[in-house]
Amino acid sequence: MTDIIDGNAVADEIKSGLEGAIETLADAGARPGLATVLMGDDPASQTYVNMKQRDCEEVGIEGRHVDVDGDAPPERLYEQIDALNDDPDIHGYLVQDPTPDHVDYRDVIRRIAPEKDVDGFHPENVGRLVAGDARFRPCTPHGVQKLLQAYDVETEGADVTIVGRSRIVGKPLANLLVQKADDGNATVTVCHSRTEDLAEKTRNADILVAAVGVPELVDGPMVSEGTVVIDVGINRVEDDTEKGYELVGDVDFKSVKSKASLITPVPGGVGPMTRAMLLYNTVKAASVQEGVAVDLP
Ligand code: NDP
Repeated sequence: MTDIIDGNAVADEIKSGLEGAIETLADAGARPGLATVLMGDDPASQTYVNMKQRDCEEVGIEGRHVDVDGDAPPERLYEQIDALNDDPDIHGYLVQDPTPDHVDYRDVIRRIAPEKDVDGFHPENVGRLVAGDARFRPCTPHGVQKLLQAYDVETEGADVTIVGRSRIVGKPLANLLVQKADDGNATVTVCHSRTEDLAEKTRNADILVAAVGVPELVDGPMVSEGTVVIDVGINRVEDDTEKGYELVGDVDFKSVKSKASLITPVPGGVGPMTRAMLLYNTVKAASVQEGVAVDLP
């Protein structure tokens, strides 16, 4: 029997858990603040920042959004970053990726105060994560860990294959799962576009994570019976519906479902977890910056 992982339900539990922490902060006179910064007017990025703002409202985090003209010089963005670094009401913020071509996203990341870098992408935070002393776990990998925990999937001793080695998903997830820790202790294989015999690696997995950005790349023959399958992919595939597209994952849900013991759907799997873990990191940042201890879910 295959169970479908309900990412919305687990994300709701995380959000409920955060409400207690937000109350504790309120009792101490503090309210967590999260800012989103968008340079340019990319419609997909606008949708993402709107969702993040809505999430803040839902749990009682003070949300703020900053728009920067897409044609402005990088300095205009840097001024906003510097202001947010100095703003005591903003405990965490992110600059929506991608930035326009004339702005190097790596420069942007380096300018963000590490203690407010709730995406966890600043080199200091990446270094801390690799060293086993994470300040902020990046939201998607952390969300994957929480999903596995919620469904009692042991990572200790498990063979985990991650398809994708991106800065935001594959690499941080691999680093988290190999840590000598209760939610780590896995044996991790990281695959990418130059991997030879991908199917051999995916078939060897007890836990298979697809974070590729290629619609339905992982299909039934690539998966062994009983594998836990986590599909991070969110791909828009054009169709003739009114919306004009359908969201599909990196896993071919139909052919993999009959073999997996547990599988995430798209949408409704990892996506809601990523959003919940951003709120988690914001509350954590507020707790540290305000000097108020809170229980995090
Ligand atoms: P990137 O494009 O940054 O990375 C993709 C990775 O997949 C690369 O490492 C690439 O290899 C590898 N890859 C590409 N094609 C193949 C192939 N044919 N075989 C094996 N490996 C391959 O993507 P992201 O990590 O940013 O995102 C991955 C997916 O996850 C996307 O669909 C994205 O929309 C989604 N996503 C979803 C989130 C959520 O909250 N659910 C959050 C973030 C992303 P190489 O390094 O060699 O190029």
